[in-house]
Amino acid sequence: MTSFIALDEQWSTHNYHPLPVVLTEGDGAWVTDVEGRRYLDFLSAYSALNFGHRHPALVEAATTQLGRITLTSRAFHHDQLGPFCAELAALTGTEMVLPMNSGAEAVESALKVARKWAYEAKGIPDGQAEIVVAGSNFHGRTTTIVSFSTDESARAHFGPFTPGFVVVKYGDVAALRDAITERTAAVLLEPVQGEAGVIVPPDGYFAEARRLCDEAGALLIADEIQSGLARTGTLLALDHEHVRADLYTLGKALGGGIVPLSAVVGRRDVLGVLRPGEHGSTFGGNPLACAVGRAVLVLLSSGEYQQRSTALGAHLHARLGELIGHGLAEVRGRGLWAGIDITPGGLSGRQASEALAEKGVLCKETHGNTLRLAPPLMISEEDLDTGIDAIAKVVRR
Ligand SMILES: *Cc1c(COP(=O)(O)O)cnc(C)c1O
Repeated sequence: MTSFIALDEQWSTHNYHPLPVVLTEGDGAWVTDVEGRRYLDFLSAYSALNFGHRHPALVEAATTQLGRITLTSRAFHHDQLGPFCAELAALTGTEMVLPMNSGAEAVESALKVARKWAYEAKGIPDGQAEIVVAGSNFHGRTTTIVSFSTDESARAHFGPFTPGFVVVKYGDVAALRDAITERTAAVLLEPVQGEAGVIVPPDGYFAEARRLCDEAGALLIADEIQSGLARTGTLLALDHEHVRADLYTLGKALGGGIVPLSAVVGRRDVLGVLRPGEHGSTFGGNPLACAVGRAVLVLLSSGEYQQRSTALGAHLHARLGELIGHGLAEVRGRGLWAGIDITPGGLSGRQASEALAEKGVLCKETHGNTLRLAPPLMISEEDLDTGIDAIAKVVRR
């Protein structure tokens, strides 16, 4: 095990600080390390593994497609792209799909589209468009996206930054109202802030954001890359608010934990501003990714994973709630997704995740003493309880 870690340390850039665990196999909610120790995966690659490791239907879709064709130039059509986009639009109730690969690329694409739409349709003078975003956001790691991050470690020494962003406090309607002007092209928000520690906004925040955007003729863009695709108990986390966005960014679970696959989905008059040559990606919408994505959409259309998230999430939150005052200061979240704050003076998030790994449960701190829990949605209630028991033992004081 130490030899693998030593190779990582020597040859791989140090932009992550992983737990000292070296995984070699995964099956459902379980992973196995190179020494044969088994662990419950309570992080699910930040929701990219909503369906667990190697879900049979997803592996089958990938294997079948591997036997046909994996990549075409986008200079040609192929028989997976159209069906994937049609099926994704139907499931999400949207009109058009722009497929990309990583989540950050989907967000970048949404920002570009929003700006172009603002100049061509809304009539904002060229170069003047503003996009309003929230503090403590996480939208990815590109130069433009870190330009409006409020996390110093994500930004420091990566400037000069892309202008045109206005940052307001998340969940604060008055701050949003003050920030929106006639130059606002779009408001970009996470329906639940995952990386920030699974922060659920106050009731009515999104309804009000929707109203303010409509009033100003601005787009509402929901970044559902982590919160969407059944994680919170509904297809999209914004569904809890009974609000529709103009554009949604999707990623992570869209690729079934097998391939990177992201997309911007939304209004035809907005995504329609893109003309040939104005945007693209060599691997975006490739046959292998689309075939896996289509199998993901089949799993999501049954509603089974949404129901599991709701039922198992209620159980998770009930049990974590019992630990408040007994090792936990606060528990937040929605569905099978939780941010837990360890009582100050207790273990740090890092110490707690190391202690949990020793007990056979893998998760990771987000910041300081906050842990994020996102077990795969296919986990059994018994396995979920095993993981919660370990958490209770580690944090209880
Ligand atoms: C993970 C994430 C991203 C970035 O996705 P990558 O695939 O890592 O580029 C963007 N937005 C949200 C809300 C995320 O959770």
